Amino acid sequence: MLDKRQDRDRRPYRSVGEYRRDHTYYNKDYGRNMSPAALEHEKKVRGVYAKSEKSVLAEREPYLYEGIFDPDTAGPVDADVQVKKIGLKDVEKLADDLLMRHRYVGVKFIVNRAVTHELVRHRVCSFLQESQRYCNYNKEKFDGQVTFIKPLFFEEDSEKYQLWKTAMEDAEKKYLKLLESASPQASRTVLPNSCKTEIIMYCNLQEWQHIISLRTSKGADPSMREIMIPFAEELKRRYPMM
Ligand SMILES: Cc1cc2nc3c(=O)[nH]c(=O)nc-3n(C[C@H](O)[C@H](O)[C@H](O)COP(=O)(O)OP(=O)(O)OC[C@H]3O[C@@H](n4cnc5c(N)ncnc54)[C@H](O)[C@@H]3O)c2cc1C
Repeated sequence: MLDKRQDRDRRPYRSVGEYRRDHTYYNKDYGRNMSPAALEHEKKVRGVYAKSEKSVLAEREPYLYEGIFDPDTAGPVDADVQVKKIGLKDVEKLADDLLMRHRYVGVKFIVNRAVTHELVRHRVCSFLQESQRYCNYNKEKFDGQVTFIKPLFFEEDSEKYQLWKTAMEDAEKKYLKLLESASPQASRTVLPNSCKTEIIMYCNLQEWQHIISLRTSKGADPSMREIMIPFAEELKRRYPMM
């Protein structure tokens, strides 16, 4: 059985501009309920954009328009310039230099926390990174344990590796103990750089090329090169112009 609220929501609305009993305003043009104040704001914003979306952009970002578009007509200054909206599939068909700028690639890396600290320095990219403030590694989804990335620096049967392993086990114990009374964000303060972290990075091929050149160089962190070199090979296989 429908409750009263669901029933009311299913009723057809008679006209544009109808006030509803819950003091919202249903507007067919915008296809949703909104308060009168929100509607006014929407109209103002949409009105301006409808008038000349491009002239608003030209005002805000003049450098994008300089010498290419006339800010008043929003048309190209040079008659030879063609403006065309193209679909994602057509991006792949662009000439190499344009493809480098317009093909964006998102990559998920599973690395240690030290590597993600380095990756997020590339400010042109967008990031989505595992949060140690919100992830509670004691939960079932993490098998109730902290996951660490084995460093490539130590041979597995070496004394150094054993030292590293003991340090990780101690850190995990302290973290799980703290979680009994503290929040994940407070408990994470004892977590080390070797913690596994997932990060998604998104940028265009041009930026990836720049990042790869920095992060595969001899001076780069070996843990970074460990992921960047195979990634660069894969990217080159897909985009040979890189
Ligand atoms: C081997 C190596 C060692 C390193 N060692 C250290 C270290 O010891 N300490 C340390 O602090 N860092 C270190 N770094 C990090 C380094 O300093 C840079 O922060 C990092 O490499 C990112 O540089 P980037 O040019 O790719 O990115 P960004 O600095 O993000 O710049 C990318 C591009 O965008 C442009 N850009 C960025 N932001 C803007 C903006 N707001 N407006 C306009 N243009 C913008 C830049 O000019 C550049 O062309 C190291 C890096 C490497 C590769």
